[in-house]
Amino acid sequence: MIDLHMHTTASDGRSAPTDLVAEVVAQGITTMAVTDHDTTAAWDEVSAAAAAAGVACIPGIEITAVDDGRDVHMLGYFFDRHHAELSAFLATQREDRHRRLRAIGERLERLGVPVDLDRALAGADQRMGRAVGRPLAAAALVEAGHVATLKEAFDRYLGEGRPAFIERQGISPVDVVALMARAGGVTSMAHPGKTLRDELIPALVAAGMQAIEVWHPDHDGIDTARYRQMATRFGILVTGGSDYHGNGSGRSQGFGQVHLPVSDFARLAALAGWAGRA
Ligand code: AMP
Ligand code: ZN
Ligand code: FE
Ligand code: FE
Repeated sequence: MIDLHMHTTASDGRSAPTDLVAEVVAQGITTMAVTDHDTTAAWDEVSAAAAAAGVACIPGIEITAVDDGRDVHMLGYFFDRHHAELSAFLATQREDRHRRLRAIGERLERLGVPVDLDRALAGADQRMGRAVGRPLAAAALVEAGHVATLKEAFDRYLGEGRPAFIERQGISPVDVVALMARAGGVTSMAHPGKTLRDELIPALVAAGMQAIEVWHPDHDGIDTARYRQMATRFGILVTGGSDYHGNGSGRSQGFGQVHLPVSDFARLAALAGWAGRA
């Protein structure tokens, strides 16, 4: 089984890199890609554990791009992890995540629901390449007793249009495609059925985007069929995975279930010139 979409504690997943590989093995997954948000910090541990377990592991990432003030997640695969421009870009993405969380903290304080974000931010050391995000603020709101659940934190304060929502500064999806190409990688628009920005796809394909994510837990059968047809129409490939965020994350239902067919992975690997085995 091939799963090209999962997260670790290097971003907002709950499984540490080595633990994730053990879970992957238990699910019968034989080819994996970790796609943490704006960081490849888990790579060394994941690739070492995967090699030891006989699991094929390809470089992956989920870059947060912005179009019209809204987030558009872009998956990258098979890129050079040491590419200087990509590495520098990802560092600025993580710095902006810190900036945004500090601004959220100030906003929450003014709203009369102060939280201690410093501890969380200090723990997520920049040098370790960990990508922080709104879930940290949500957890702090729960811990401070201002809300009962993470969902309530987003619904009342952190979600788009809510009072502690801070706009993200970001690169356009088209620029992600170009950057990923310069880094030797393949770009796939993540979960288009969740992002709901299909109107961007023609320009992304024109810019060189090579794939879209067809298999994803938030896609129903109709989405899957529709995006598969769209890929065929645009002459691009397809990717897929579980978007696993760890046990108890509320985003684990696709793990061991939602996967990329072997034939589709073979096309992707051939396009990328990947020499490993699936
Ligand atoms: P950020 O990258 O800082 O914008 O945070 C986005 C992350 O917040 C997503 O990947 C989800 O894990 C989480 N998230 C977004 N909306 C919600 C929500 N309504 N309930 C729970 N978690 C959410
Ligand atoms: Zn996530
Ligand atoms: Fe995503
Ligand atoms: Fe994801």
